This record gives sequence, C-alpha cells and structure tokens, in this order.
Amino acid sequence: MVFVSSTIGKGESPMKMGLSTFGLDSLNSLIFNMHEFDLIKHYFTWTPVPSEVRLSVGDDAAILQIPPHEEFIISVDTLVEGVHFPVATPAHAVGYKALAVNLSDLAAMGAHPRWFTLALTLPAVNQTWLEEFTRGLRELATEHQIFLIGGDTTRGPLSITIQVMGTAPKHQALLRQGAQVGDLILVSGNLGEAAAGLAVIQQRLNLAHEDAADCIQRLNYPSPRVELGCWLRDYATSCMDVSDGLVADLKHLLKRSQVGAKLYHQNIPLSGALHKLNLSTALGLALTGGDDYELLFTLPQQHLEQLKQYQIVNQIKLSVIGEITQQIEQVSLDYPLVNLPDGYNHFQ
Ligand code: ADP
Ligand code: MG
Repeated sequence: MVFVSSTIGKGESPMKMGLSTFGLDSLNSLIFNMHEFDLIKHYFTWTPVPSEVRLSVGDDAAILQIPPHEEFIISVDTLVEGVHFPVATPAHAVGYKALAVNLSDLAAMGAHPRWFTLALTLPAVNQTWLEEFTRGLRELATEHQIFLIGGDTTRGPLSITIQVMGTAPKHQALLRQGAQVGDLILVSGNLGEAAAGLAVIQQRLNLAHEDAADCIQRLNYPSPRVELGCWLRDYATSCMDVSDGLVADLKHLLKRSQVGAKLYHQNIPLSGALHKLNLSTALGLALTGGDDYELLFTLPQQHLEQLKQYQIVNQIKLSVIGEITQQIEQVSLDYPLVNLPDGYNHFQ
C-alpha cells in the first residue's frame, strides 16, 4: 500500500522499499507519467461536493453527516481481473460494473445510495485506461447520485474494491430474513443473460452475433435496481440481490427466513436470446448462472396489485416465480433439471 501512495514520487528508491519484484518499467511510467497526487486530483476529486460531505478526497479521511432519522448502510465488494471479470473487459465496463455490483447490494437493502470509496490496484498507470474507467464509474455514479469520498491507489494485479454507503429510515431496511409461508417469490428483470455472455466469451456457448452481444452487454453493464429496492421497503417481507445464481442465492434467503420455496419453471424470466436455447440449457443458466444483479424478494399476496401498478408506472419487468413453503431451506422446481445445488427437489 505504501509504495504508490505517498512514498513514491518523494524520490525513494524502489529497491530500498523492497519492491524489486514489481518490475521497474511500470514503476518508471508511474513516476514519469503522472504523480500519484496528480492522478488522484485528476480522476478522483469530484465536484460539486454534496453539502453533507464535510470533508472529501484530499485529507486522511472523509467526514460525513448522516441525516437525522436515518441509518447508515454499508457494503463492500472487490472485483479482481480474471476472477470477477474477464481479462480484456473494456475499462469503461470495469468502472461501471465495479460500482453497479455494489449499488445492487444497497438496492437489496432498500437503501438510498449516498457515498462510496474506491481502492484501486493497478498493474501500471495507463492514462487511456484510467480515463475510460473513470468515465464508466462516473456515468453510473451520476445516475444514482452517489459521491466518491476517498480511496486508496496501489500497484499490483488489477483489482477494484468499492465500499458503498447508503441510508434508509431507521429500522426499515430490507433483510434476507422475514419471508413468510404463503408469500409470493418475485424477481426483477431477466435471469441468465450475464452467465450466457460469460459462456460466449469463454467459448462454452454459441449464440447468434446479436444475441451474444446482448448477453455480453448484460454481463458488463448490470442494472442495479435501486429505485425498486427503496419502493419495496414498504411491501416486501425479505429481499436480496441475485449475484451467484438464483437457486444458490434463494437458499441464503430461505436459511435466514427459516422457510422453503417452490418455483415454477414457466415463470422464470428469460430474455429473447435465452428463449432460443433448449429449455434445459436456458433454465440452467437462469437458475445457476451468476452476475444477474436482479432483486429477489418475497411479497405478501395482498400487495400484488400495488406491485402491478408500480411495474406499469416504472416500466420494469417483475415476475412471480414461486411461493414460500414450510420446508425449511428446500427449493423445489417443477422441472427435472440436473446440476442444481443441494437442497433442490423436483416436483411435478
Ligand atoms: P494516505 O497515505 O494518508 O492514506 P493517500 O495518499 O492514500 O493518503 O490518499 C490521499 C487522499 O486521496 C485521501 O483523501 C484518499 O482518500 C484519496 N484517494 C487516494 N486514492 C483514491 C482513489 N482511488 N479514489 C478516491 N480517492 C482516493
Ligand atoms: Mg491511503
């Protein structure tokens, strides 16, 4: 951490700092192209600073004022190149997605996004890459009015850690806990497209050119359902975002709520691209593929009408995919799909 921040640029020898393993070429490019201080000033010092941010980028830490009657809601996620996104993902998409996956966690809590920090580990300072990365990041940050208050910049294999901070009225955040037997299970958007996009990139799946492009777009640019999450605070009994695959994530919700679930395969929302695949492949992607960043939530049946109104006004796809049952942590599906995680049952 020390070597890119503060110490570099003050003329210390990298060898003296025990950094010989990092390679001098990129170190030199860092020193000669842009001093760390200038880099932070250029890319990460944002304006205008919101009034509740008393101190932002530039000091040792930020100072924030939390609105009265609200609670602070915090989450952090790291994206590592080659692990969480394919090598050679465009920088714009990396910036966008790094924030999107974090906003999705705030959405799942019904939190209003406010501030975030950015810990960036770069193999080298490539200004074209940074320009594009920041453009993607700022695009989504501006859309959701979330403000960058600080971070850290170090050198190493490409990785991005974003910590998001949001607020919600006291005791009203949505939790994974709270689903009741008889509640409807719903999901936003379509499932499985991002997993199909990844499979295309990894040459495990063949799709027509346009469908492949659509799925890769979903992989790179998830849509965090922030407004839906805030609206659901008044109606849903439990909520989470789908990042590791519907069934795997649903099981976390079932465990926290101590209930089970029955899913109807015909209601699982599939995009046009997935509809063209055979049903087992499409359902496999939708139920077990990751990176959807849609909201999965439970709703007492009496709120279905309000939800339908919300759906019409906000033009968002919401699907009732099943029902909460008494069988603790058991997921049953009316389709004989193989390769589902433990605890899955087939019913007719
Ligand atoms: P320190 O050594 O005291 O931790 P740094 O040199 O790491 O300070 O950072 C200086 C200032 O720049 C701090 O306010 C920090 O929050 C901010 N900063 C550093 N890197 C980033 C980044 N990637 N994004 C946003 N702010 C950053
Ligand atoms: Mg620091």
